[in-house]
Amino acid sequence: MSNKLILVLNCGSSSLKGAVLDNSSGDILLNCLAEKLNLADAYITFKVNGEKQKVDLSAQPNHTGAVGALLEKLKEMGLDGRIAAIGHRVVSAGEAFSESVLINDEVMAAIEKCTPLAPLHNPANLLGIRAAQNIFKGLPNVAVFDTAFHQTMPAHAYTYAIPRKYYRELGLRRYGFHGTSYRFVADETARFLGKDKNNLRMVIAHLGNGASVAAIKNGQSQDTSMGLTPLEGLVMGTRSGDVDPSVFSFLADNLKLSVQEITDILNKQSGLLGISELSNDCRTIEEEAAKGHEGAVLALEMFSYRLAKYIASMAVAAGGLDALVFTGGIGENSDTIRAKVLDYCAFLGLKLDNEANLAARFGNAGVITTADSTVTAVVIPTNEELMIAQDTARLSGL
Ligand code: AMP
Repeated sequence: MSNKLILVLNCGSSSLKGAVLDNSSGDILLNCLAEKLNLADAYITFKVNGEKQKVDLSAQPNHTGAVGALLEKLKEMGLDGRIAAIGHRVVSAGEAFSESVLINDEVMAAIEKCTPLAPLHNPANLLGIRAAQNIFKGLPNVAVFDTAFHQTMPAHAYTYAIPRKYYRELGLRRYGFHGTSYRFVADETARFLGKDKNNLRMVIAHLGNGASVAAIKNGQSQDTSMGLTPLEGLVMGTRSGDVDPSVFSFLADNLKLSVQEITDILNKQSGLLGISELSNDCRTIEEEAAKGHEGAVLALEMFSYRLAKYIASMAVAAGGLDALVFTGGIGENSDTIRAKVLDYCAFLGLKLDNEANLAARFGNAGVITTADSTVTAVVIPTNEELMIAQDTARLSGL
């Protein structure tokens, strides 16, 4: 009998990312990316065995049209009958869920209620869920939340030092993100190092275009650098991370900008892009820094320095440090940034192994510290799709 398949969907307001995984092996049989949804020239690109195919969605340029096109593609491949369940990445569950859940009407209502916490993402996630329910009729749908893993953070880590009534009345607190990646990488790190995760103090740096760090002790999140929204914390591709909140009144007073305009500047024009005045892409920044571009050199240094400061503070949250873990596009590939960060953090007992650092790239996991380093630094590739598929299979009883 053929293995059952899990469809994983990750919906944005104008995009839909999908993957079809074999439930037994975890292998990906199909990837797709729908873009420009809700515009006349929407399209979806399928990737099967490395080959790409672009399909026009103009007849129905929305999330339902994209899921419909995906079903047609699966029919063409003879795979439609094997899809057994659908897993959805949902950005915010607020305090409603600390684990993944099988979706029913109450779960839909709870996701809707969390919309003020993720005003762009949660409505898009709901659109994706409804499209899947309509097109793959009768199949179980599971929600896997970005925030869920961080629900173990203690109040002293998640509370902002502002009047508490805003937390009570509006739920204004730190939630954190990248939770699915942290859960996967924490388990993989323990497995890779042959250690019990319940006896391991880790700081994991998830460094992609969005970037955060988390402190994990006994397999549970203790603190993380993102807050109410993904804007807090590290220097990112286009996000500023931490700034003095007075930046808002300063820019408003001096340039007569609105709150929305300043929020956009901090989210979309800052970080590596804003500092370098070149690009948000770490590869470009590294290439230009190597040629001596002043903005790129500064961007690289600021990214590494802020990250190192956060790693040291996360060691406080974890109650010490056994393993420092790098993941995400930058964490898995940039030996330059890892070397800089380990240099800043040398006082914590981290000693870089240069050769190992160069070898741990392009999907290769590996320890990048020397044998006499008191803290182990390791590169572990993340796999959020697999984590979502595993939760989906478990909660669907597969
Ligand atoms: P992600 O959001 O996890 O896909 O990560 C995207 C980031 O990873 C971008 O800033 C890329 O420039 C960065 N990245 C990917 N490959 C490399 C590489 N070989 N060296 C440095 N950065 C990389």
